[in-house]
Amino acid sequence: MKVVIIGAGVVGASIARVLSQYEGLEIHLLEKNADAGLGVSKANTSILHPGHEDEPDKYPLRAKLCIKGNRLWYQWTKELGIPAKWPGELMIAVEEEDMKVAEHYLELAQRNGVPGVRLVDHDELLKLEPNANPNAAGALWAPTAGLLSATMAAPALVENAVENGVRFHPETEVTGIKIEKGEVKGVETNRGFIEADIVINAAGLYSDKISKMAGIDYFTVHPRKGEYFIFDDDAEPKVTKIVHQTPTPITKGVYVITELNGGLMIGPTAQDLPEDAKEDTSTTREGLEFVWEWAQKLIKELPPRSMVIRTFAGLRPEPPDGRWIIDAYDDPWGFINAAGIRSPGFTSAPAIAYYIVEELIQGKLEIKLTRKSHWNPYRRALFFKSLPPEKQNELIKKNPAYGRVVCMCRGITEGDILDVINRMKRMGVKTITLDGIKMRTWPMVMAGTCQGSYCRIRIANIIARETGTPLWKVTLKGKGTEYGIGDIKVLLKEGVKENAE
Ligand SMILES: Cc1cc2nc3c(=O)[nH]c(=O)nc-3n(C[C@H](O)[C@H](O)[C@H](O)COP(=O)(O)OP(=O)(O)OC[C@H]3O[C@@H](n4cnc5c(N)ncnc54)[C@H](O)[C@@H]3O)c2cc1C
Repeated sequence: MKVVIIGAGVVGASIARVLSQYEGLEIHLLEKNADAGLGVSKANTSILHPGHEDEPDKYPLRAKLCIKGNRLWYQWTKELGIPAKWPGELMIAVEEEDMKVAEHYLELAQRNGVPGVRLVDHDELLKLEPNANPNAAGALWAPTAGLLSATMAAPALVENAVENGVRFHPETEVTGIKIEKGEVKGVETNRGFIEADIVINAAGLYSDKISKMAGIDYFTVHPRKGEYFIFDDDAEPKVTKIVHQTPTPITKGVYVITELNGGLMIGPTAQDLPEDAKEDTSTTREGLEFVWEWAQKLIKELPPRSMVIRTFAGLRPEPPDGRWIIDAYDDPWGFINAAGIRSPGFTSAPAIAYYIVEELIQGKLEIKLTRKSHWNPYRRALFFKSLPPEKQNELIKKNPAYGRVVCMCRGITEGDILDVINRMKRMGVKTITLDGIKMRTWPMVMAGTCQGSYCRIRIANIIARETGTPLWKVTLKGKGTEYGIGDIKVLLKEGVKENAE
């Protein structure tokens, strides 16, 4: 049986990994970008939510799959070597009356079965988080909240799925879906036709467009923007817990977190954009001011603005009424939607994948699947920086590239970069990009104090050398994002040649 999954974000990649556990399937994972995880899954808060923020009556799937996904990530991050931590989360009641809101979420935690959630008073709040606002009334404490390296997740999932037999097709854009006699037959792409008995739509912001191609057009997905600040690694104070405030009609929550990389991050906003603004990841003065104002209410003081090293924005794929569209259809038979997966979509992705395979493919479509006797859940992840000194020495003796530091801020070596390039090639990535390298190194290159001003050119040079690409053609994230560095005369000459063609 042939299965096509459209979109290698965290949702499509999780579905590919879960399906790779079954026998007799030819699984194709299609992605229009040069790499996995360059869509919505790249820019978000990266919180593994405990599962107490969704009303089970209003959002049954979100309520059920978030708590399950949170626990699955506990296992998956270990199997796949994705950096993660589990600091727990404080929903802070800034004013006394906000405690009533916190009580509402305590009740939701009980209804959804989230373990360990309880109210804490002012004193316990400050004991749990000494950098919290010293005037806050109290908080709701949820100990099972975690953080993961969101950028690494989708590439890691795909790498593991490919090791288990999935075929990854980057730079492959789906342009149509072939349907005959009420059944899906395959997908049209910029690289030709791919046959399929089952087509799963996990196309994030574009999942409404893909659904329309299959004739299912009862919904649209619009972008909801979230803007952030990131501070330098040594900016203080740093919170030890995930901190946000009780939701209000104006905001569901600005968070203050200490990223796994080490820096403080504050955000996001939640601004609805028109349907056609699916690529608008610009930051705005108003959005950033809003974040600053709310974050100030949560902790005792923010670091000075001069310590901000980056601002960025992500776009949530927002379905019409907040309800995820996850379903299999009779007409066309074989088409499955995992559409409009807004927050807590990251947390829930592994559970969404099991839901699709168990409840929809095996349940609703009545396709019997048999588990493979041998399936490898593990991904080898080698991070030189995390090794003890004696292991580092051993590695340098075997391969001197590990002795050449490329990224000064984060201590990433040429050996790390070469390892990543080899892994990308094995996974099926056709164009080795700067972002692809960034997403797979740990701690992340080009993301420290210098934001790549020291290491980017060095990494671009390694990519050029290892792939035989002219330096100026090395891209940030695929065609159209050429970094444009190198010999300016070559750049002009090549530019003239291309224009003449
Ligand atoms: C600001 C913000 C904060 C968030 N915070 C959190 C959080 O803290 N915790 C949490 O759980 N969730 C969070 N989320 C939600 C989470 O990020 C998303 O639910 C999740 O990443 C959606 O993944 P996806 O795979 O559906 O979409 P994507 O990652 O966008 O993947 C879809 C893929 O489909 C590809 N594609 C599209 N069209 C085509 C086509 N025609 N052919 C081939 N490929 C195609 C795209 O290129 C893309 O790579 C946040 C989201 C945002 C924006």
